[in-house]
Amino acid sequence: MLQEDYELNEEEKLLLKKVLDGDIAFRKIEEFTDPLTSVKLRRLAIQKFTKLEFEHIQNFSLDVETAKMKNIENMIGAVQVPLGVAGLLKIKGEYANAEYYIPLATTEGGLVASVNRGCSVITKSGGANVRIFEDEMTRAPVFKLDSIERTKKFYEWVKRPEIFDQMKKIAEKTTRFGKLIAVKPFVTGTYVYLRFSYDTKDAMGMNMVTIATDAVLHLIEDEFGAQAISLSGNMCTDKKPASISTILGRGKTVIADVTIPKEILKETLKCTSDAMFEVNYSKNLLGSARAGSLGFNAHAANIIAAIYIACGQDAAHVVEGSTAITSMELTKYDEIHCSVTLPTLPVGTVGGGTGLGTQRDCLNILDVSGTGEIPGANSRKFAEIVASAVLAGEISLIGAQAAGHLARAHAQLGRGKF
Ligand code: NAP
Repeated sequence: MLQEDYELNEEEKLLLKKVLDGDIAFRKIEEFTDPLTSVKLRRLAIQKFTKLEFEHIQNFSLDVETAKMKNIENMIGAVQVPLGVAGLLKIKGEYANAEYYIPLATTEGGLVASVNRGCSVITKSGGANVRIFEDEMTRAPVFKLDSIERTKKFYEWVKRPEIFDQMKKIAEKTTRFGKLIAVKPFVTGTYVYLRFSYDTKDAMGMNMVTIATDAVLHLIEDEFGAQAISLSGNMCTDKKPASISTILGRGKTVIADVTIPKEILKETLKCTSDAMFEVNYSKNLLGSARAGSLGFNAHAANIIAAIYIACGQDAAHVVEGSTAITSMELTKYDEIHCSVTLPTLPVGTVGGGTGLGTQRDCLNILDVSGTGEIPGANSRKFAEIVASAVLAGEISLIGAQAAGHLARAHAQLGRGKF
């Protein structure tokens, strides 16, 4: 008998037997008992199935009721990821204007230390300037028309201002916060893709825009007679690296920069501006181009993944964040001007995983949890912080490579336990 069996009452033991016998499916256990007991029964069933005794995944503090409603099915426990902080990082944004400790959840030894070093360089250099240039989340259904003539008619119909007004009215009836900004048609043969973009305020917005766009499909069917083949035709483009998102933007389009004096480079990064310029040019620009990469950066995804995991973002959106462009230019004073351009950074401070306890704690470290004073201000502040942290990560790694320190740092920090 497994250890946890002793804690079950008679009713729970009977339920577990039914689960093990296949009389109650995993997804239906909640119909017979409370959410926390359901988690325990599934975990016990998995223990029996695998003949294992878990030592860790049963230990968590998150609210099972909340998680079950919004975040997970067939829950059996929680996985823990170590959480560190980098900083202080001085940021001079439109929304983020202070010094911040950056929460980073990762299992990559060396990452927090590297970002921390970048934060120190930026802060000593006066702080990161950061601005948001576009802010819209997209959903793009696909339609099939029966001839090229009708395809062209549909294309023109969609572009009529009064049709946009009707779509906007219908879409915005489904949400208190979302605003339809544009509907852009793209055509391939007789297939038409309508890329709907919305201001989703503090929400990352994928659920919001999916619901809103679905409502508009009925109008298109009733008024034009075109039926959608799929609510998502992949020109959105969600969770896939795509040129359309790097060109038009998706989520937040953010740029952060800093100019680093040569004395700070020498003292903190132990390298010269010439060496940093050369590493960035040959690696991030030429190397990425030669490789056909959509990301022209050193490791933007590393920082984005660690902040996303800590702060309850959809981790799959690291794909979009990975398309960042890092630029480093020499100034006439031997300083180096460094910038990161993040064309597509989906983030939210409400919805998704942001309501879970540990994730909310991390958002609170940055003072961005939930809705801000003005809806939308918190998610914009958060995006500015993420971009500034990416800048820190890029400066640190390029600096390490310029100084020839990369392998040594990894050997000391990432391999220390072997
Ligand atoms: P959500 O969990 O559906 O929450 C967003 C909702 O929060 C908004 O629609 C809005 O409700 C409400 N809200 C409250 N205060 C708000 C504020 N200040 N600003 C904006 N909204 C506010 O989250 P979501 O951001 O729409 O979607 C994120 C989730 O979608 C994640 O869990 C992600 O993993 C998942 N996802 C879904 C799809 C999909 O195709 N459905 C694709 C990728 C990811 P009202 O609209 O009712 O006003």
